[in-house]
Amino acid sequence: MDHIAVIGAGQAGATLVETLRKQGYAGRLTLWGAEDALPYQRPPLSKAYLLGEMERERLQLRPRSFYDTQNVELRLGTRIDALDPAAMTLTHADGTEVFDAAVLATGSTPNTLPDRCTGGLPGTHVIRTLADIDRLRPEMVAGKRMLVVGGGYIGLEAAAVARKIGLEVVLVELNVRLLGRVACKPTADWFRALHREHGVDIREGVGLDTLLGDGRIEGARLTDGTELPVDLVIAGIGARPETTLADAAGLTIDDGIAVDARGRTSAPGIWAAGDCASFPVGDARARLESVPNAIDMAEVVARNLMGAEEDYVPRPWFWSDQYDVKLQIAGLNAGFDDIVVRDGDGRSHWYFAGDRLLAVDAMNDARAYMVGKRLIEARRSPDKAAVADGTAPVKSLM
Ligand SMILES: Cc1cc2nc3c(=O)[nH]c(=O)nc-3n(C[C@H](O)[C@H](O)[C@H](O)COP(=O)(O)OP(=O)(O)OC[C@H]3O[C@@H](n4cnc5c(N)ncnc54)[C@H](O)[C@@H]3O)c2cc1C
Repeated sequence: MDHIAVIGAGQAGATLVETLRKQGYAGRLTLWGAEDALPYQRPPLSKAYLLGEMERERLQLRPRSFYDTQNVELRLGTRIDALDPAAMTLTHADGTEVFDAAVLATGSTPNTLPDRCTGGLPGTHVIRTLADIDRLRPEMVAGKRMLVVGGGYIGLEAAAVARKIGLEVVLVELNVRLLGRVACKPTADWFRALHREHGVDIREGVGLDTLLGDGRIEGARLTDGTELPVDLVIAGIGARPETTLADAAGLTIDDGIAVDARGRTSAPGIWAAGDCASFPVGDARARLESVPNAIDMAEVVARNLMGAEEDYVPRPWFWSDQYDVKLQIAGLNAGFDDIVVRDGDGRSHWYFAGDRLLAVDAMNDARAYMVGKRLIEARRSPDKAAVADGTAPVKSLM
């Protein structure tokens, strides 16, 4: 192959080019990124970086010199506008290029508040890119009143940072409870209590009706009719897979760019990895928005481009930092019917389907997380009564 083009210079894209070189690919390698920044890690954007406790350079996955020595052509600040799978070309503002294989690593795009909610007022924020934080951070000043719309991990992390800085925070979640899409009720209850202890005004079953103000945000009316004074709004209302390019190119889309177990899209020579891609799991499809998924899937796709014929088998894990709590999650909880609560080093919630362990949420309990992760990866399920006994060492569950 003379030219592999990687579209999207985020976590998956950077991993792809690095792995391709490690695997001995010696041809032309281009990495196209719409953002004008070296590939960087996003998790700190709603954690240490937002708080101002991490320097910008430390976000970078690799310094510029790495791409130079690896002979990777970095095309930052360049959005790919069109992809032609038949001609094997990609088009950007300055021209068209031919490739032998392309990988779509276009990530996901945050949902924004609809106009009926913003009331046409400018100045609501999302947290996805460095540029988003550059706009948001100067506004996060002690004493300001912030409204967070959405009680998922990003909204909760932003609320925690805002409280640390000294803002007044109201968080509204339209669903009946926080973390409704991603975690069980005991985990939601635990985080609600944590945030209330830190002074966040959490309101569930209530959404944003409309923002109020004259030319700038001054307040908000909620769906229960309550009106609040507000200076600043963050929308943490989820993200959708970035499929614009793939869709226009006629690729199959099914909750993301549909790939087979190897990472191949419906068009020969075009692959996908990371947040933007949905992959088969048994008879169903899954799509994950996490750093480990972006890295592991990109590595598999890179090896397959070099002829490995390897299936992608996700080993899901995730983390979130809020105040002095580290949440670590192992496994996927879809289909659970029982939760076992364990008070050990910290608190952990173990998700079961019947007697089968699916996932673990561990709050300040790294040992419970590690043991849960190993058990899930080995497809072993501990006895529920033993899990609940927090007086016995968690490693006895192995
Ligand atoms: C605030 C925040 C906190 C997070 N916290 C965690 C966490 O604690 N733990 C965890 O595991 N995960 C976390 N995540 C998720 C994690 O960051 C993502 O899953 C990961 O970045 C996905 O990598 P990716 O390469 O698929 O996509 P991205 O990193 O989003 O990269 C995609 C890139 O493609 C570019 N692109 C898109 N279309 C085009 C085009 N047409 N042409 C050129 N470039 C294009 C985009 O501009 C973007 O730079 C967090 C995400 C955010 C936003």
